[in-house]
Amino acid sequence: AKAAGRDRYALFDPAMYAEILREADDRAELERALADEEFVVHYQPIVDLPTSRLIGVEALVRWQHPVRGLVGPNAFIPLAESTGLIVPLGRWVLRQACQQLAQWCAEFPESAGRIRMNVNLSARQFQHEGLVEEVGQILAETGIDPHQMVLEITESLLMQDTDSTIETLGRLKSLGVRLAIDDFGTGYSSLSYLKRFPVDILKIDRSFVDGIDTENGDATLAEAVVQLGRALQLQTVAEGIETQEQWSTLQDLGCEFGQGYLFAKPGAAEAISSILGGARSE
Ligand code: C2E
Ligand code: CA
Ligand code: CA
Ligand code: CA
Repeated sequence: AKAAGRDRYALFDPAMYAEILREADDRAELERALADEEFVVHYQPIVDLPTSRLIGVEALVRWQHPVRGLVGPNAFIPLAESTGLIVPLGRWVLRQACQQLAQWCAEFPESAGRIRMNVNLSARQFQHEGLVEEVGQILAETGIDPHQMVLEITESLLMQDTDSTIETLGRLKSLGVRLAIDDFGTGYSSLSYLKRFPVDILKIDRSFVDGIDTENGDATLAEAVVQLGRALQLQTVAEGIETQEQWSTLQDLGCEFGQGYLFAKPGAAEAISSILGGARSE
């Protein structure tokens, strides 16, 4: 009886209880935010490296919190993942991004008709049964050209469950969308392994780009990743380019596209509108 008492006491450990309450609280807060549409999507330009011309954007979600201000995704995506709220949140981001692209295409048909909209898919979303239908439905309702849509999935997701993963990737591809492997180089996948996946684009993780101009870092790792992309006949996008040196080294290595603070930080849709509008009057 004493042992049972101790066990029961352990269940009501105040610190653990507080933690559970806080998590339930955070979850409720996130759910409320979703219902109240407190999220906003920012867009970061993706450019052609030789010319730095805009070739696309990546949609990145933020939480416009009534008290805390603009909150970045690293502060809430993990909880959204663990609670499953990432499924409705991710669907909202996808719809928002497609509506935005449709609006740009209507406003700036010449420039916007050529750009890509990249949207992140989390592992949980990817495993969600209705994903492919939802993507198809959002494409249909917004009327955007599926070829302009790029879905970004992480390398670690690909390494989890290959059979059903390949099937889902194939079904997404047959909608006409393009697929990118995000954070590439961090998951140790082998060349033969990668060949099995019907992907189109590799996004080279920022850590390799960072390495280019650090002291004992050389460009060897970045070079290897770019060459792997080439060998697989995939397009390569380098992430997190912050310096001129990284930009020129990546060009020398043959990387086609890039993204990073050197070109532009993620920002509200209006910032992209003015680039697209400017391109029209050139
Ligand atoms: P990610 O997909 O790897 O996105 C790139 C992140 O790098 C973004 O951070 C972007 O702002 C940041 N970044 C871009 N250029 C630079 C640079 O030059 N230097 C540095 N230091 N950082 C740069 P952000 O917006 O905070 O997003 C963080 C992560 O949150 C994303 O990483 C992605 O994994 C996740 N995320 C964002 N939006 C969504 C979404 O709608 N759905 C899902 N599932 N995940 C999302
Ligand atoms: Ca991404
Ligand atoms: Ca990334
Ligand atoms: Ca990342």
